Amino acid sequence: MKAVAVLPGSPDSAHLTDIAKPDVRDIPDGRGVLVRVLRVGLDGTDREINAGEYGTAPAGDEFLVLGHESLGVVDEIGTHVTELAVGDHVVARVRRAGTSIYDLVDTPDMTTDGEYLEHGVSRVHGFLAEYYVEEPRYLIRVPDALADIAVLLEPTSIVEKGIIQAYEIQRRLKVWQPRRAAVLGAGTIGLLATMILRSRGLEVTVFGLVEPPYLNSDLVEALDARYVSTTQSPLSTHSGFDLVFEATGYSPIVFDAMCYLVAKNGVLILASVTGGMRRSEVPSDAINLDFVLGNKVMFGTVNANREHFEAGLRDLAVVQTQYPGWVSRLLTHPVHGLDRFAEALANLGQPSVIKTYVEISG
Ligand code: BGC
Ligand code: ZN
Repeated sequence: MKAVAVLPGSPDSAHLTDIAKPDVRDIPDGRGVLVRVLRVGLDGTDREINAGEYGTAPAGDEFLVLGHESLGVVDEIGTHVTELAVGDHVVARVRRAGTSIYDLVDTPDMTTDGEYLEHGVSRVHGFLAEYYVEEPRYLIRVPDALADIAVLLEPTSIVEKGIIQAYEIQRRLKVWQPRRAAVLGAGTIGLLATMILRSRGLEVTVFGLVEPPYLNSDLVEALDARYVSTTQSPLSTHSGFDLVFEATGYSPIVFDAMCYLVAKNGVLILASVTGGMRRSEVPSDAINLDFVLGNKVMFGTVNANREHFEAGLRDLAVVQTQYPGWVSRLLTHPVHGLDRFAEALANLGQPSVIKTYVEISG
């Protein structure tokens, strides 16, 4: 079958290749699920992997099949699979269990292992292929009515995890009632964060570089949230946010957020994977004092587990009824056919692109 792979560490190595079609019996005890891939979304992680900056091949292979944002349909199930049926739509979790205690309780997103396993990223092949085979515990069943937008479930799960954990952390306050949220970055993750925070009833301000109006600022406003261009109104002139979600991919902004944005007792969520070597000088005494005297929290979040995918499905369903058509507007750049993968990679980082994805079959 056809697949798109990279040679980790070599820049621009993405290529179409032929690999063996997996079989339900590749997984023991009749527990395999063969999934025909319908769509795979791409993001900055794929761009970094194809730039040779990130990514690891599975043991014994030189190549890594790309792709971690999937949507597929169950094609065949092993004799002992009861959780799923042929024809079900599914989205696969990205991380597989390692060995730490967190992995053992099905939260590999919290692993403390030094080397983690992520489909399409680290040590396990991805989904940019015609089929894959997986165990039921790694598959999330998607209602057919959400199939059209479910390629966005994996990035949605990332945001859900950050926000759910922020609320968990804030239980320290006993009576926390967040009202104002800030989202830094108006890309896919920033827009999904806006969607989730709005569905929780918060007032949301989204900060982006681009001057409005443009598609992303229109999408923010369509959710009854506010878009602010930092070119016109710098971060230093804003303050008092109970929750701040950082999703720009630009690490220096974290310190601006710490300096200016977070309210007393507030929480700052860091969700950008910044693979570079950037350094910056910061007013450390002032930031530290402010965090101490204001009882503020900052934490990092990566990946997601089943709970967060399921929360993502619920929020996508709510938004579909509250703001019909909004989610589909994020699906800006479909590319038809695995052999045209290079177009999808070239779309990444272009200003008009929110989500680019490869339509594989169906
Ligand atoms: C993926 C996550 C992954 C992270 C770090 C993100 O692009 O969506 O699932 O954990 O990269 O590799
Ligand atoms: Zn991703």
